[in-house]
Amino acid sequence: MANATDRLNRPLGVLRLSLTARCNLACPYCLPDGVEPPGLLTATQRLQVVAAAVALGAHSLRLTGGEPLLHSGLEELIAAVQPLRAQSKEGPGLRQIALTSNGTLLSAKRARALRAAGLDRITLSLDGTTGAAVAGMAGLADASAGERTLAAVLAAIEHARAAGFDPAVGALKLNAVVQRGRNHDQLLPLAALCRERGLELRLIEYMDVGNRNGWSRAAVLSAAEMVEQLGAIWPLEPLGRDNHGTASRWSYRDGRGSIAVVASVSQPFCGDCNRLRVTADGIAYTCLFASPDSGTDLRPWLKTDSDPIELEQALAGLWKHRNDRYSEERQQGARGDRNHAEMAYLGG
Ligand code: SAM
Ligand code: SF4
Repeated sequence: MANATDRLNRPLGVLRLSLTARCNLACPYCLPDGVEPPGLLTATQRLQVVAAAVALGAHSLRLTGGEPLLHSGLEELIAAVQPLRAQSKEGPGLRQIALTSNGTLLSAKRARALRAAGLDRITLSLDGTTGAAVAGMAGLADASAGERTLAAVLAAIEHARAAGFDPAVGALKLNAVVQRGRNHDQLLPLAALCRERGLELRLIEYMDVGNRNGWSRAAVLSAAEMVEQLGAIWPLEPLGRDNHGTASRWSYRDGRGSIAVVASVSQPFCGDCNRLRVTADGIAYTCLFASPDSGTDLRPWLKTDSDPIELEQALAGLWKHRNDRYSEERQQGARGDRNHAEMAYLGG
């Protein structure tokens, strides 16, 4: 089937597939459900969804959640999608399989298993460099719980590196959400940590996803402010934003790597957004800020006797009608609604 293009002429390029809505942390800016939605997709159904998205032009698969390492079928799925890889540089098919994880469950063994299954990239998330800061941002009881989580994530970085996820080629990165009034004092320590460990730090503006996090614009530390603060210590050179990318990148002028900022609130990038999101229970969403009831249930096309072409046609129809540009509308003051599907359910 031909590559799908939406009403704003944006191609389908990335499938973000959530494997679980559950998480072993409870970051206050995300606040996941404690339970799975009913009717989780089976391994076969997940593979069907990936295959259909690839047939419509998706070249990148990001596995997420909730916390995807809670899902015992993760490695099996990564291995199962390998035949969908592109056979040539420009040809159709998957070119990248990535994982976003909080890292707390990433043992050395699991990192090796993920690599052996065929995972290309890992992005780990960490919002502070002290026990107290990590506890505050991960919803943990106290600083000593935060210290244990911090130690686990730092170990996970090294497990991933040792398993072959090389940060020098972008195969290992660190995500951090920085909130004004909460962990803005962690910006420089996080950057220092990533410089020491040779990782790109991806700084994400606090976003108004979900309905539970009490988001306010006042708590958003803008990407420009983050870049300014970092640049005052370590001068930066702009590298720009890749087509269809979420992050604007900057290199350190002293040659010690790069940072990236995801400015979804202050500098929306809806204009070339190419991401389709599918939840663990098979609901497709075409925007991170979608309302819960606006998703399309793919399960009617995922029955044992379903013809794969029907799922492709359903997804193609959904993508063809897509005209979401929530962040741009918010920027223009046109959107004040707070009826958003939750982040951990959507898969971020
Ligand atoms: N549990 C995994 C993790 O934390 O990496 C994967 C799922 S999580 C929803 C994916 C990413 O979304 C994480 O890097 C997290 O920090 C980010 N995130 C969650 N809620 C956010 C919010 N309100 N604003 C900005 N980023 C958010
Ligand atoms: Fe869990 Fe990730 Fe949400 Fe934090 S951001 S609660 S680690 S899903």
